[in-house]
Amino acid sequence: MKKILKIFFGPSKRRIRRKINIQRVPIGFTIKEYQKKKKEFLEIAEDRMIFFNQFYNLEYKNISIRNQKTRWGSCSSKNNLNLNYRIFLLSDEMRDYVIVHELCHLKEMNHSRNFWNLVQEQIPNYKNIRKEMKQYYFIDRK
Ligand SMILES: [Zn+2]
Repeated sequence: MKKILKIFFGPSKRRIRRKINIQRVPIGFTIKEYQKKKKEFLEIAEDRMIFFNQFYNLEYKNISIRNQKTRWGSCSSKNNLNLNYRIFLLSDEMRDYVIVHELCHLKEMNHSRNFWNLVQEQIPNYKNIRKEMKQYYFIDRK
């Protein structure tokens, strides 16, 4: 059975919809609360990134926490890493996998064999984690 991660998505109150759409604040959060959470998540992300990058030693510019609707994370060609705030609501293992996945894209901008080998060096059970993560999907609530 699919687990549904429907927490905190989209505007909850009509009257603040406009503001919320601009900031993309998840449901159940006020802008202030979301910003506070993002700060907490960013601290965790930076810690984990530093931890794994002791091994990879890659260069990245900026990490941001986002309310992305379809992706767990992304890595731009300018070496900026974006992480979906939802990864911090999953298990630590899944969160670390996404962080390492995006980190490895700094070296391999694709999903080639080389890329997965790189991921595997720090997340040996990445295949199981990916399988588990496929049980989750995003719900866009109106
Ligand atoms: Zn990827």
